[in-house]
Amino acid sequence: MSDSTRHPDSCIFCRILEGKEEGTFVYRNSKASAFLDIHPLFEGHTLVIPNDHFVDISDVSEDTLAEVMKVAQIVSNLMIKNLHAEGINIMHSTGRPAGQTILHFHVHVLPRRTGDDTEFQRWWFSRSHRASRQELSSMVAKLLP
Ligand code: AMP
Ligand code: ZN
Repeated sequence: MSDSTRHPDSCIFCRILEGKEEGTFVYRNSKASAFLDIHPLFEGHTLVIPNDHFVDISDVSEDTLAEVMKVAQIVSNLMIKNLHAEGINIMHSTGRPAGQTILHFHVHVLPRRTGDDTEFQRWWFSRSHRASRQELSSMVAKLLP
């Protein structure tokens, strides 16, 4: 766990929480906050973050993670009800190779509508390799030595 405080000088998301940078908030409680992503992939793209500074999936505490996911559910339901989202993607990146650019734990909540981005769908459904039982067994043996 990090030191469980905000990092208002070095972290843009802590600065948004402190009101030192502009943020368009969708929801806030004592543990977690949700605000609109400045580069929306889809209309309404929202970030949910803990109010304390945690770096990534390994760093975030269990209760905070649960709170972030509760808020992600609240935001999802707002999108379904008020933005007429027909589906939701929840995405997260830990580490630079995975695409994490801001080192304050966050999940992306993406409202989806039929036909909104065929490239996005194509990417997800492009997995053509079907693993053999042998491959799956040797993988689980590595994962659970
Ligand atoms: P990730 O690549 O998963 O670390 O996502 C970081 C996200 O933060 C990106 O989608 C950015 O568009 C978003 N972002 C960066 N700066 C801001 C900001 N000042 N306000 C809102 N969203 C931001
Ligand atoms: Zn931070």
